[in-house]
Amino acid sequence: MQVRLASEAAPGRTENEDHAFQTGPLVAVLDGVTAPPGIDTGCIHGPAWYVSRLTARLTEVASACSDDPLADNLAEAIRRVRGDHGNRCDLNNPATPAATVCLVRDSGQTLDYLILSDTTLVTERAGQVQIFTDPRFREAVAQLRRVPVMSDYAIGDSDQAAPVPQTINRKYQLTNQPGGYWISAANPDAAHQAMIGSLPLTGKDRVRRAALLTDGTSCAVDEYAFLDWAELLDLLTEQGPKELIRRVRLAENADPEGHAHPRYKRHDDATAALCIFDKESR
Ligand SMILES: [Zn+2]
Repeated sequence: MQVRLASEAAPGRTENEDHAFQTGPLVAVLDGVTAPPGIDTGCIHGPAWYVSRLTARLTEVASACSDDPLADNLAEAIRRVRGDHGNRCDLNNPATPAATVCLVRDSGQTLDYLILSDTTLVTERAGQVQIFTDPRFREAVAQLRRVPVMSDYAIGDSDQAAPVPQTINRKYQLTNQPGGYWISAANPDAAHQAMIGSLPLTGKDRVRRAALLTDGTSCAVDEYAFLDWAELLDLLTEQGPKELIRRVRLAENADPEGHAHPRYKRHDDATAALCIFDKESR
C-alpha cells in the first residue's frame, strides 16, 4: 500500500484541528470539532489536543491489537484518551472535544474501514467508484435545518459565524444519542456505532485506490462540485493531496461570503489521504 497524506489548517488559523496519519497498515483522517465561541465544553483541552491524543492512542492500540476489529481499536483509543483528560474535565458534557474519523486497514486479503460522522471514503474497484459515508450525520444536519434560523449559515466579519444557541443546543441533543449521530468523543460506545465494512484486496473486484477525506476536502465534490468522485481520485493520484487542498481554497475564495455555498466558515481545515494498492504484491 502506497500512501500519500496532506492536512492543512484553514488559511489564517495557526492550529490545524484535522490530522492524517499512517501507522503500519492503518491509515486515518480525523477532524476535530470546533467548539462554538462561548460554549462551556467542561474541558480544559481543545479539539486539536483531542485529535493529537486520539492519534497517539490509536497508534498505540493499532500496533498492540492489530487483529482486533477497527471498532474495538477505536473504542480502546477513546477509553485511553478519557484517562488523558485527567480528573479535571467533565466528560459527560455534550460539548466535550470530539472528532470525526475515517480509518482503513490493509489486512492483507481485505481493506477494513470505519467511518464516523462526516468523513468520506472513496474507493475504486473494477473500474467503479464507490462512496462510503455515515448518513446519520447528514440526517442530523437536515433535522437542524428544518427549523430555519437565517443567521445560522451566514459568514460574518470575523470570517467564521457562530451558529445561534438554539441550533447548538439542538445539535448536542443529537450527538452520540440513539436517533442522532455518532462521533468520537469521550464515549467508547460511539466506536461500535460506526459504519464499518471490509472490501476485497485480492481478485478482480479488489480495491485499487482508496481516498479518505475530511469534510474540508470532500466539499470539492459534494459542495463546490468542481470535480466528481472519479476525478477527485485521479487528481489525488496524479497531483497529490496538496493540490486537492489548493483547489478547495480557490473554490472557497471564489465564494467568500457563502452566498453560493452557505456554510459556517469561509475556510475549513482540509485533509486527504490516498492509498494505492499494488496488484503485483497480492
Ligand atoms: Zn479535557
